[in-house]
Amino acid sequence: MNGVRADYQKRSADSNDVRCLLCPHNCVIADGGYGKCGVRENRSGVLYCTHYGLVSALALDPIEKKPLARFKPGSAVLSAGGYGCNFTCSFCQNWHISQTARHAHGGTPESGAGGYPLTMSPAQLAEAARNAVPRGNCGLAFTYNEPMINLEYMRDTFRLVRREGLSTIVVSNGYINPKPLDDLLPLVDAMNIDLKAFTDDFYRRMCGGTLDPVIRTIRRAAEKTHIEVTTLVIPGLNSSTDEIADLAAWLAGIRPDIPLHLSRHHPDYRMSEPAPIPVDELLALADTARKYLEYVYVGNV
Ligand code: SF4
Repeated sequence: MNGVRADYQKRSADSNDVRCLLCPHNCVIADGGYGKCGVRENRSGVLYCTHYGLVSALALDPIEKKPLARFKPGSAVLSAGGYGCNFTCSFCQNWHISQTARHAHGGTPESGAGGYPLTMSPAQLAEAARNAVPRGNCGLAFTYNEPMINLEYMRDTFRLVRREGLSTIVVSNGYINPKPLDDLLPLVDAMNIDLKAFTDDFYRRMCGGTLDPVIRTIRRAAEKTHIEVTTLVIPGLNSSTDEIADLAAWLAGIRPDIPLHLSRHHPDYRMSEPAPIPVDELLALADTARKYLEYVYVGNV
């Protein structure tokens, strides 16, 4: 049977139900069931990470693609993805890996092109990162899907990557509880955190989550590591000048040198519209954000 015992779990006193304490969903999972993320399973009253070591994609990417603009610019980073997500964003650009884990319970996720999924131990993944150094690799990034839901695998791998003298990078939606975040941060050199919008309504309607935990994550992470923030701009949903101004002003209140990436969405997954924001409108939003922040970038243009 796949997987390792999960951390961050609490068993019910009078049944086999288990509460997962990893992310703010705090799922209560019945025996034989999975949490919302689709990668944590209750087996007879014990929670397991069923996708530990399963890699859905592995590529050497420019670090700017994470996006990170002000952390080791010009380098490449070995980038690994897994399966599943604790959000259900209807505009997800990586839905084929983020939303498929829940349909693959009890076995290996459906293989994609190119022989995926790979099964890689933390040692094998760290070795792959080391072997990519001659090609400009600076470290290992967990990205593509939401890596926090498989935190145990990321943590075990990062410990070995650090021993190689390489950098550790997380690209995350920031939807994680404080304790596991605090446990992970000492192992993280840089993060890109999505701030998908600056309204709780957007998070509830579009993502199946809430805004406050993400804000809390950004605050905490900014104290401990290099962070950059990404907002995927979707016309009519999170693209008002007022909302971007509020978001940028709030971020500047933490530190005005936190880079903000305003990225242009393209219709995907369950959203066939709206059309991507016109580039001149995105540039105008970037100018608005620059009234508060020192480093604002536009992406996907
Ligand atoms: S990590 Fe998964 S199982 Fe745990 S609370 Fe979040 S969605 Fe639920």
